[in-house]
Amino acid sequence: MASYVWDFTHGTKDQKDLLGGKGANLAEMTRLGLPVPPGFTVTTEACRAFLADGREPDGLEEEIDEHLCALEARIGRRLGDVADPLLLSVRSGAKFSMPGMMETVLDIGLNDQTVVGLATQSGDERFAADSYRRLLQMFGTTVLGIDGAAFSDRMDAAADLDADRLREVVADFKAIIRERTGSEFPQDPREQLRQAIRAVFASWNTPRAVLYRRHERIPEDLGTAVNVQVMVFGNRGPTSGSGVCFTRDPATGEPGVYGDYLQNAQGEDVVAGIRNTVSLADLADLDRASYDELLLAMSVLEHHYADMCDIEFTIEDGTLWMLQTRVGKRTPAAAVQIAADLVAEEQIDPDEALRRVTGTQLAALMFPQFAPDLTRRAVATGLNASPGAAVGRVVLDSATAVEWAERGEAVILVRKETTPEDLAGMMAARGILTARGGKTSHAAVVARGMGRTCVCGAESVTIDLPGRRLRLADGSEVAEGDVISIDGTTGEVFLGEVPVSEPALVRRLEGEVVDDRLADAALGLLDRADLVRRLEVRANADTPDDARRARRLGAGGIGLCRTEHMFLGERRGLVERLIVAEDDAEREIALARLEPLQRQDFAEILEAMDGLPVTIRLIDPPLHEFLPDLTDLAVRVALEDERHEEDEHDHELLAAVRRLHEQNPMLGLRGVRLGIVVPGLFDMQATAIAEATADRIEAGGDPRPEVMVPLVASAGELALVRTQLEQAVAAVATRRGLDLAIPIGTMIELPRAAVTADRIAGVADFFSFGTNDLTQTTWGFSRDDVEAEFFTAYRDRGILPVSPFESIDVDGVGSLVQQAVRLGRGVRPDLHLGVCGEHGGDPDSIHFFDRIGLDYVSCSPYRVPVARWEAARARL
Ligand code: ADP
Ligand code: MG
Ligand code: MG
Repeated sequence: MASYVWDFTHGTKDQKDLLGGKGANLAEMTRLGLPVPPGFTVTTEACRAFLADGREPDGLEEEIDEHLCALEARIGRRLGDVADPLLLSVRSGAKFSMPGMMETVLDIGLNDQTVVGLATQSGDERFAADSYRRLLQMFGTTVLGIDGAAFSDRMDAAADLDADRLREVVADFKAIIRERTGSEFPQDPREQLRQAIRAVFASWNTPRAVLYRRHERIPEDLGTAVNVQVMVFGNRGPTSGSGVCFTRDPATGEPGVYGDYLQNAQGEDVVAGIRNTVSLADLADLDRASYDELLLAMSVLEHHYADMCDIEFTIEDGTLWMLQTRVGKRTPAAAVQIAADLVAEEQIDPDEALRRVTGTQLAALMFPQFAPDLTRRAVATGLNASPGAAVGRVVLDSATAVEWAERGEAVILVRKETTPEDLAGMMAARGILTARGGKTSHAAVVARGMGRTCVCGAESVTIDLPGRRLRLADGSEVAEGDVISIDGTTGEVFLGEVPVSEPALVRRLEGEVVDDRLADAALGLLDRADLVRRLEVRANADTPDDARRARRLGAGGIGLCRTEHMFLGERRGLVERLIVAEDDAEREIALARLEPLQRQDFAEILEAMDGLPVTIRLIDPPLHEFLPDLTDLAVRVALEDERHEEDEHDHELLAAVRRLHEQNPMLGLRGVRLGIVVPGLFDMQATAIAEATADRIEAGGDPRPEVMVPLVASAGELALVRTQLEQAVAAVATRRGLDLAIPIGTMIELPRAAVTADRIAGVADFFSFGTNDLTQTTWGFSRDDVEAEFFTAYRDRGILPVSPFESIDVDGVGSLVQQAVRLGRGVRPDLHLGVCGEHGGDPDSIHFFDRIGLDYVSCSPYRVPVARWEAARARL
């Protein structure tokens, strides 16, 4: 018969669904023969039934009575026995540990009579009164919901109270309960037990718990188990105490036992930090026998779980009791170190190590970090948009950033918000700080892509551009050129230089020789990941430097080489001339001057990726992004006219800006549409690519470019530009006397392209899913604007637990991708498929792309090791 109550002697660690994490592990420790105070677990099923019906399910009370009886018989003490009472703890324990859930209630079973019995029986009046005081306090706050301050205010001065004073506190606490609830504290122990269990059940649905589950993506319908356990007492004088310990260092993963111990205390005191704890090593001096026994139990547990365990224990008058264990929480560094060490110790195999450590944990090891310092104070705080630690001089515009960086200064680019025009400055800067914008703002997305540290939306920072300074909330000022430090992991901004360290792992990945145990551990597992994974990992890289770095970090090619930055900086003049050109001749002059510049860019990137594929995307953004801002320009022209200094070029430019102005540029003249509308633009790019390829071949290299056309919606568009591109390549091939086979493919980033992928596959050699735009166009919201307005509301209400720009929306966008894969491969079974949106570096998304059979993911260079890691985990 299915039962609602399980004795600790019956469960196992694998029954977390039914018994909760704490209950399952208490059962496991009991089965291992470790000293666990006896007890039983009320199952999550009982909780679910309670929450559904608002009352205890039929039979639950009887089952609890039976188990209680058996417990009393075993211990030889009864609940409510006035002479020698049994006391119980009631402990919540869901499948996943959840802060915000109900706390524990200790010492259930005490009342005005039994407290006398406990005093006589233990010979310690103070201990008995203190236990009763604890029960009233815990029961009052957690079961009756009274504000904890009502009790703790009264207790503040009571740390070393004698028995008489404690009895006064007890009387006061009972009065507080009476006043606040209108009823007496329940004197019937069985009623105390019933109410405590009910309170644990109900705590599943407290707002705190609901919010936490949403945040952590824990299902709503699991319910919590309740553990009812015989009390043991750490507060029984100097030969008693409580502690917590770890079988390895949870901060570094280094072997060796770690922990804290508090003499003459119950467990809650250890965590509460009321008194100072001593280290576990000191327990050896206080009570050698218990210490040895504990070390043995720790070793048993670690070998049994084959993982680092965290343990709560109590010593009652020289006897050790184990109260809790679980696989311990740890820092990312410890996660990697422990997994690798356990492989070396042959406790687990390498695949299990990969299963245990997430790519996100690996990523955390790769960011530069500030040395810890508790006294450091942030002068402003924004969103932790792109992790890492950056120190440099404040610069307030992109041009200054580039200029100072070129003369060797470390700079932090500080802007109200960034635009594509800031790209050069962002690349030149060590870090980026913005006053406006959320985690998917331009600054945040671009910074993450480049692996640059970024704090965005630091609203308390005001930028005084004319005065070249920042103003902080406290009224103080930071001049351009002053040094600040920003922490992209926490969102904090500091004045002056905070010491930073580049992690050894990154230096090793970059080819430096560094002796470091953690780097050894990570790289060993990364080698294993490369053997396990099926997906290729490429990088998004637009410059030769990024290409080289990507290659060192293990990229198998470039999946997205954007070409728009090749139109910025000093080349903008040429682009402006191209746009304002009045006839073919003028246009051709501008194109002819751009072509060799692009060719040089491509040649260097192809060289850096020699022998590996380089997917080059033709120009994508709307042309007006390369022109001055409409308002600025209009003002300038008006001023010039007023002063009779009319400038013909500016007038032409203004006309062009007006002509190109669009209400929705994102849905406007961009991508393949540019190739069709602006004569010669794509041909020029194709020619530059083909010439660069020819240059590389003649230099003895092995260039492998692929040309990618953005924003295609129909096969017709691609067919048209494909012919032009092929002609441009063929012309170069003939001129150079070489055989140039350059695959031509397309991005799939519009829903229409996805659903007509079979037709598009007829004219494409490959697809690369541009999941950023595909997400925008499928949901119909723009990435730059969602954050501010409704997104938070959506997240709070659980409509979108996680941003679809961070992790692929499997049901919607993912389904379109899947459909395009099926349609495309139906026409062309060998169609090569990849993804190049931000999702290419996101763990959950990588697992999805592996599942649906893509050939590769492409992500920013610094993300490459993480993608290699997650691509392996997707196979395990
Ligand atoms: P949490 O989930 O917050 O860790 P626990 O259920 O582990 O809550 O309880 C907190 C503390 O209460 C434990 O660390 C332990 O010190 C004390 N405690 C729980 N059960 C008992 C018990 N049966 N005897 C003595 N102390 C207990
Ligand atoms: Mg708790
Ligand atoms: Mg605990």
